[in-house]
Amino acid sequence: MRIRYRVDATVVEGHRARFSIELEGVDAPSLDLVLPSWVPGSYHLVNYVRGFRDLSARAAGGTGSVPVQRVGSERWRLTTAGIHALTVQYTVYGHQMVTEAFDLTSDHLFLNAALSLPYVDGHLQEPVEVELHLPPDWRVVTELEEVSARPPTYRAETYDELVDSPLDAGHPLVLTIRPHGIPHRISICGEGGNYEAHRLEEDLGKIVDASIRLVGESPLDSYTFFVHLNDVPDGGLEHASSNSAVVIRNAFAPLERYQRFLALQSHEYFHLWNVKRIRPKTLGPFDYTREVPTGQLWWMEGTTDYFADLILRRAGLFSPTKYLEETAKIAKNVLATPGRNSLSLEELSRIAWVDYYQPFEETPNQSASYYGKGYLASLCLDLEIRYRTETRASLETVVRRLWTEYGKPGRGLEEGELQPVAERATGLDLSEFFDRYVRGTVELDVEPFARYAGLTFGPRPKAPDDDAPEPGYLGIRFEDAGGFVRLTHVLLDTPGHRGGLSPGDEIVALNGSKVSFPKFAKELEAYPPGTPVDVAVFRRGYLRHLALTTGKSPPEKYRFAPAEPANDLSRKVHANWLDAPWVAPKSEAESKTE
Ligand SMILES: [Zn+2]
Repeated sequence: MRIRYRVDATVVEGHRARFSIELEGVDAPSLDLVLPSWVPGSYHLVNYVRGFRDLSARAAGGTGSVPVQRVGSERWRLTTAGIHALTVQYTVYGHQMVTEAFDLTSDHLFLNAALSLPYVDGHLQEPVEVELHLPPDWRVVTELEEVSARPPTYRAETYDELVDSPLDAGHPLVLTIRPHGIPHRISICGEGGNYEAHRLEEDLGKIVDASIRLVGESPLDSYTFFVHLNDVPDGGLEHASSNSAVVIRNAFAPLERYQRFLALQSHEYFHLWNVKRIRPKTLGPFDYTREVPTGQLWWMEGTTDYFADLILRRAGLFSPTKYLEETAKIAKNVLATPGRNSLSLEELSRIAWVDYYQPFEETPNQSASYYGKGYLASLCLDLEIRYRTETRASLETVVRRLWTEYGKPGRGLEEGELQPVAERATGLDLSEFFDRYVRGTVELDVEPFARYAGLTFGPRPKAPDDDAPEPGYLGIRFEDAGGFVRLTHVLLDTPGHRGGLSPGDEIVALNGSKVSFPKFAKELEAYPPGTPVDVAVFRRGYLRHLALTTGKSPPEKYRFAPAEPANDLSRKVHANWLDAPWVAPKSEAESKTE
């Protein structure tokens, strides 16, 4: 069947664009048009269809209308008996600048096909074309193959490729770099922005170079970094030959904020291998109508996140100290999640569709992010492999093997196949690690793994001159409710939990003294750990008093520090992992003279 979409954005009325689909070679009595319920990379079902209106169809040549019945929210059935060519028309409202957007304003169009171009059921693997009608001075940036310049027309080999190739039109600033001889465009869309073009080119070039060196080769002919500047950030979404990031305008300075931008880019770029090509079987070709669970998302996201930071280290964009600080932050976040050992990484992966994407008040007590927990497992597995193989292998070796055996030949990973690949790549028996930390729920203690690299891991000690008061700890998370303190979460096994606080409670007084949202954290300083306190709350609108005893806050910060003694092998692992020699810890006397 010949499938040709037409997008008309020449007249933008209230963010609504006109679309049509020309179908030729229809040979069935009926056919279904279906809009995806999810976008690959964003694992949750969403009603993207809500902006659709006025869908109708007529036979080609003006021979009359084609009956259309909406048989589901996202499915239209066309009665096509005796009709071989037809045109479908509809309009879509698009006004949301997020990573998986259909966004149309008077000066820009960002088009993700999954939100605007329904597919013909049963014809997902056939080529499609997209023809654009745009204001005359607009420029188009996309990784789709151009088949005609006027009007701009693009072709995808399959609907999957179309969904995986977003398209930006308007007045983007486009920078081009050529690391390893491969053209990479940086397409920046949106007003303002405190970036330095020169520096972006240089630093993204370093990320590309370090990534290609890590995996060993690049499958790309070209790549686009879509960067959308906005007032609200939305992270990034990976594609096979591009990624789409929505960041705040001033994401590029100061340095720490800019490093977060680079970490996001490093993560999304590494996905071009890990998840786009090294992928679980269920993730391509895609079933867009339902959840497609896999137990490997922890590897696809957590391990990608682990490598994103390691690549920044390899690229010289993170110092060894900065790298270890970032890793310690990830570990802290996992350790601060009471539900971190409720589910295995595999199970967290499979239920990402609910737990990660639709969190609720009890989520931290019964679940954890497979990003953070997957990052930590990747770190520990990497250190174990480097140590046990005396640095002959690492998690990088595993990725390279996944690339040559699966990614490059286009073979999907079966469930449970990660461990055997890692074992083939490293020559190690890794069953204990996978049993405990991937399929099991054993607490992942980072310290013994840090020792493999001559480091210790633990809470950062208080500075000797730090005499700040220690506030009482309740184990709650809260938000501003018109100046009052409304609890959003009560963490398991904390003073608040033991004392009977509930999400939704509004704390109005401590020991009879009125409290307010802006000052609440400060007010807790009056109740140091171990202080009994009467907590007055409105619960479902009725005043209650609860007797609590404040506790001690869990560590605010963790750190990696050199371990003494460190044997020769762990020093070698340190250098091999961090590209930096192991340095002995400073003695007391040295620290004091600093
Ligand atoms: Zn990701």
